[in-house]
Amino acid sequence: MAYDDNNVFAKILRGEIPAKPVYEDEFALAFNDIRPQAPIHVLVIPKGKYVAVDDFGTQASPEEIAGFWRAVSRVAELVGATGEGFRLICNSGPNSLQEVPHFHAHILGGKRFGAMLV
Ligand code: AMP
Repeated sequence: MAYDDNNVFAKILRGEIPAKPVYEDEFALAFNDIRPQAPIHVLVIPKGKYVAVDDFGTQASPEEIAGFWRAVSRVAELVGATGEGFRLICNSGPNSLQEVPHFHAHILGGKRFGAMLV
């Protein structure tokens, strides 16, 4: 799937849609999900143009991949998700109901979750 420059996270990265960053570095931006599904619900996105985790993993440079996953760990700690644990979700494609076609990791925490899949 080709990357769509008009997706909402591309607009956030370009500053066209406001988002309150909780973390930003050279490789990643993190902000609260607009429709939180847990007390902690943060999205971490790479700065590069990748549709989902699969093309990120195959197309991104080693520096981008390392930088992104390092940022995920930093953000999980920063938002207080690491102590009691958290769930990390990366939806990819229609079967996952991925809504925004810019790769992102959901960090969900602050509560004890039920079964992994519904
Ligand atoms: P996914 O289904 O994995 O693509 O998740 C996309 C997520 O992006 C959803 O949880 C939405 O609530 C969230 N979202 C959509 N637009 C925004 C926005 N402008 N700011 C923050 N989160 C957003």
